[in-house]
Amino acid sequence: MQLPIYLDYAATTPVDPRVISCLVQHLSRDGIFGNPSSNTHTFGYKAACAIEVAREQVADLLSAKPVEIIWTSGATEANNLALCGALRANLQKGRHLITSKTEHRAVLDVCRWLEKDGYTVSYLDANPDGLIDLEKLAAALRPDTVLVSLMHVNNETGVVQDLAAISTLTQGNGVLLHVDASQSVGKLPIDLQALPIDLLSLSAHKIYGPKGSGALFVRHCPKRQIHLKPLIHGGGQERGLRAGTLAVHQIVATGEACQIAGFEMKEERLRLKKLRNRLLLGLTKLGKITLNGHPTQNWSGILNISFAGITAEALITATPEIAVATGSACTSANIENSHVLRAMGCSATRARGAIRFSVGRFTTNEEVDYTIHVVSAAVRRLRAISPIWEQLCSATHHQVDWSAPL
Ligand SMILES: *Cc1c(COP(=O)(O)O)cnc(C)c1O
Repeated sequence: MQLPIYLDYAATTPVDPRVISCLVQHLSRDGIFGNPSSNTHTFGYKAACAIEVAREQVADLLSAKPVEIIWTSGATEANNLALCGALRANLQKGRHLITSKTEHRAVLDVCRWLEKDGYTVSYLDANPDGLIDLEKLAAALRPDTVLVSLMHVNNETGVVQDLAAISTLTQGNGVLLHVDASQSVGKLPIDLQALPIDLLSLSAHKIYGPKGSGALFVRHCPKRQIHLKPLIHGGGQERGLRAGTLAVHQIVATGEACQIAGFEMKEERLRLKKLRNRLLLGLTKLGKITLNGHPTQNWSGILNISFAGITAEALITATPEIAVATGSACTSANIENSHVLRAMGCSATRARGAIRFSVGRFTTNEEVDYTIHVVSAAVRRLRAISPIWEQLCSATHHQVDWSAPL
């Protein structure tokens, strides 16, 4: 059987062949396999050098300093270290943090855990377009607020938060800011010299690197030291913030993936924008589709659409030719609508009809055209047998905002 067309780049990406060759050079006897902590011989020394080159590659992509990059097993661990680490190290200030209801579970579940541990969390709603209201953020700040955690690009909708405005606000109020940038690092420019962000998480497998690898940026500023308590204790690696023998092959691959992303960002952004607009234009012809997200403050790699009159599950079942995601997670008999779309005030029907298409480095025009073809055929077929479709046709029309995403 032929494999479906992969349109789920926001979930993970295949590893770039250039990254694979770099990865395998750091495993075997004839490669760089040493323990970077072995400081008595050349095997260890070479591995330590490779780690530092990778650290520079990641730092360069973000206009950060190499010393500010802490290797982790991915963005989930980076988020855990940022939130738990900062809260536990700043008890003298308080026990309050602020986040939004549209965050990834790798932030929300940490918050729930912290709540059980005696911390208090304020969860902000998003506007219907997915953006966080800065006035609501300002109003949620308290004297005992230690940290604000907000994502850059949302993994379900592609909505891009205004990091400049958010970081200005947190800095002005003397509160730490953590950003989950798993969906934006290597895709949109991030300048940490210009933005007063204190902590930032990234993941390699969202940018054509290996799974199980990522980093936390921790701002290094002699005047305003950021205190974190580690989660993992052991050999004192990563300035004591993250113990454990460094995964050399994963880390060099992460560095390489970041360097490639930086080199190709401008071109890739333009290409993805065209692909995304081609897909949207094709699907718009179906009528009665709604864009879930922001018309312009949106990353082009992600297109989240609801098709009136049908559910996402029905559409996915009807289109085995493509691999896409729904906003809902089915747990046993219950279908739970996306917490992100709910936080944006989407109706339950609209949320149940939401499909996330995400394009990436290896997506072609032909794949997009074929996707339009199979989705359109399936939507027409399903609408024809939908009991509510005729009613919907006489109701007011949803207009897709014709847009220029980021
Ligand atoms: C993928 C993703 C994560 C989790 O990253 P892992 O490296 O898989 O742990 C966290 N946050 C967002 C926004 C993501 O897209």
